[in-house]
Amino acid sequence: MAAVEKKPFQRLPTKVIPKNYDLHITPDLTALTFLGKVSVTVTVKEQTNVIKLNSVDIKVSTCHFKSASGTLEGKVEYDETAETISVIFTQQLAIGEGSLLLEYAGNLNDLMKGFYRSKYTTPSGEERYAGVTQFEPTDARRALPCWDEPALKATFDVTLCVPKDRTALSNMPEKSVKDLGDKREIVFERTPIMSTYLLAFIVGEYEFVEEKDKYGVLHRVYTPLGKKEQGKWALEVSVKALTFYREYFDIPYPLLKMDLIAIADFAAGAMENWGLVTYRERLLLIDPLQSSLMTKRRVALVVAHELAHQWFGNLVTMEWWTHLWLNEGFATFMQYHFTHIAYPEYDIWTLFVDETLSSALALDGMASSHPIEVPVGHPSEIDEIFDIISYHKGSSVLRMLHDYIGDDDFKKGLNQYLTKYSYKNAETEDLWASLEKASGKPIQKVSYFPAYVVQSTPIISNTRLYRSLKLYKFGPKPSK
Ligand SMILES: [Zn+2]
Repeated sequence: MAAVEKKPFQRLPTKVIPKNYDLHITPDLTALTFLGKVSVTVTVKEQTNVIKLNSVDIKVSTCHFKSASGTLEGKVEYDETAETISVIFTQQLAIGEGSLLLEYAGNLNDLMKGFYRSKYTTPSGEERYAGVTQFEPTDARRALPCWDEPALKATFDVTLCVPKDRTALSNMPEKSVKDLGDKREIVFERTPIMSTYLLAFIVGEYEFVEEKDKYGVLHRVYTPLGKKEQGKWALEVSVKALTFYREYFDIPYPLLKMDLIAIADFAAGAMENWGLVTYRERLLLIDPLQSSLMTKRRVALVVAHELAHQWFGNLVTMEWWTHLWLNEGFATFMQYHFTHIAYPEYDIWTLFVDETLSSALALDGMASSHPIEVPVGHPSEIDEIFDIISYHKGSSVLRMLHDYIGDDDFKKGLNQYLTKYSYKNAETEDLWASLEKASGKPIQKVSYFPAYVVQSTPIISNTRLYRSLKLYKFGPKPSK
């Protein structure tokens, strides 16, 4: 059998890097298209006459570069395979600050990624479309040309121009609203510095229930029309979980709102967009008369998972997709940790052993298993690692580490890690270093030498763990 050939891949050049995106989007929910305009404030760090950024299925109509030395017109070259465009100028760009302006058009696709359409039926039976986003891992580039890598963080100013009778949401609260006849233009507050995959915007018809937590954050759960009662359970969990994490990590949640929204067509289970978390309807809505206790418990876990990401993932982000397990394994561990404390009657750690740990062991017993940390390159390889190994094996290992370190030092280490790398990026070894410092225990060693864990950790109640050495295997220490 021939080895699968990996597609060639190169990360974006960093001669020009983004600082802020001023993005205007006008969707047409009938024609299922959208017009976009983005002005990116950039820093030109090295001499070049080319700006290369990610873009796919977008047709650019205009592009300019403006700086103190004047305005240059650019020419766009598309590379479909690499999912990039190169904007080429006839002369070198001046070193320092400038802005790249692009006007473009795209389709509200039916791929459930990028800026896509989601079909719903109104209470009167009419079929309509909402425009929603799913950008993780690499589909922000379908909605706007951008530096679509987690380490190339920037701030975002989003403006949506939408039909007057529709709800428009983004990561941040509304800053201003302008009436434009049959349309409304909504300008949202500037986001914190963040990765492109966390950007989100939604245009559709929704209603909500809301509650302010004791720190002044406004929580809202958006549901399809006529179903807001079904958002009440998730709202209760949201208020409890965000408050718990803020106190556990001892770091404030930096936004003033937390929206959770149920989306009719959604590929993943849920997505942790900063301040605007999207969910499959069945993972957010609870019918007080119909839903089972199991469903209620599932919703609590999923809400808790996404809110853990607001710190672990959003505030501190993996440097590259190779470190995805850290994001997902951690949020999975925290979803149980929170639920155990907030709802002890659920006996949630037993559920963890039953579902999460045992599925990790089952998968890990196969020859096709892989170390938790996998080097990835081309976007087509990234989807493959959003798997049981990253979520379940990752969280099982973190649970053992938590047990080995003890809750107080674990908390202390996390606070150090999240403080040190706030609004920045980190790698697996950076977390080990913080936990090591806080606990005085050899965390790096534990993580790379399987036998050490087996001999020195009080292992959770499952003897199969002793046999499944692969559970601890992170693979060879990555060379830098
Ligand atoms: Zn997650």
